[in-house]
Amino acid sequence: MESTQLRLARRPVAEPDETTFETTTATLPALEDGQVLLAVRYLSLDPYMRGRLSTAKSYAAPVEIGQVMVGGTVGEVVESRYDGLQPGDLVLSYSGWQSADVVDGAAVRRLDPDAGPPSTALGVLGMPGFTAYAGLLEIGRPQPGETVAVAAATGPVGSAVGQIARIKGARAIGIAGGPAKVRALTEDFGFDVALDHRAPDFAEQLARATPDGVDVYFENVGGHVFEAMLPQLNKHARIPVCGLVAGYNASSAPAGPDRLPGFMAAVLTRSLVVRGFIQDEFTHSHGRDFVRDMGEWVRSGQVRYREDVVDGLENAPAAFAGMLRGTNFGKLVVRVS
Ligand code: NAP
Repeated sequence: MESTQLRLARRPVAEPDETTFETTTATLPALEDGQVLLAVRYLSLDPYMRGRLSTAKSYAAPVEIGQVMVGGTVGEVVESRYDGLQPGDLVLSYSGWQSADVVDGAAVRRLDPDAGPPSTALGVLGMPGFTAYAGLLEIGRPQPGETVAVAAATGPVGSAVGQIARIKGARAIGIAGGPAKVRALTEDFGFDVALDHRAPDFAEQLARATPDGVDVYFENVGGHVFEAMLPQLNKHARIPVCGLVAGYNASSAPAGPDRLPGFMAAVLTRSLVVRGFIQDEFTHSHGRDFVRDMGEWVRSGQVRYREDVVDGLENAPAAFAGMLRGTNFGKLVVRVS
């Protein structure tokens, strides 16, 4: 079987563009014992992939030039030499930006067809949903009556953060870009307050919407949203630092005065708890509870999700670049075949 593959061709300096990836075709090897052949059905596009395009020091190795771009996938077993999997089974794999793959059967997880549509294994019931669950509950620890704020709030992480905060009895402030997303925050996801970070008076709107301050700021974006948030943070506020997507394409330091002294003074005088995390550190401690709780919340409708499905692997590079600017509306997945 042949696999159409997108490989890293050139490291982008700022935004990824049409020269970042190149398309190649490979003939996959014959199966060995223990292996399965997968046809990739869905590819997840996630902000962390921007980091993999860079050689800057990070928590994971960069993708090498010429390497197939990495990514979480849902694959369908086409042929199996692994006892635990049959043709037709759907599995969660890490096949990356390609249409087919040969993998060890033991290295993939069979998806429960009753858990939800297959693509949700890449979103609300997968890595992004888990990120929201573990980061919010372990670090944010929202209490009834507290205020929780999150940006990129229609995305898979932010939308789950807001809804879980409400399940825990907190007031949820959602921040997104543009009127359609802002409307979805209250109408579809049940946030108490929805704000547009692109509004020229965003900082004033945030201050008016949080008269009692903010107890948990789940940091997804950084940039001007963080700057508006900092004055609103209460004493002992918790800040799970999950992502800083506003700066992923930055090619130079932000303009203006050094903000670090002001930030450190706020950390000191308001006893802020700032804790970065990468979701997989919580797999052992929170993985089981997540599967139970999130499964139940999605089934009961307490947690709703939205997907942005792009057709065709060839459209992955543009969709990925757009996500870093906010053109996606919901969990971005590519329907590969
Ligand atoms: P997402 O929300 O689907 O997509 C990113 C969103 O970021 C865009 O749609 C855009 O939404 C927003 N954005 C982009 N530039 C912005 C800016 N300058 N200011 C404010 N918002 C901006 O992404 P996701 O998958 O849910 O991920 C959200 C964050 O979580 C990312 O930072 C990601 O890196 C992080 N993350 C971390 C972990 C971990 O283990 N630590 C795991 C998964 C994800 P708007 O149009 O609404 O602005």
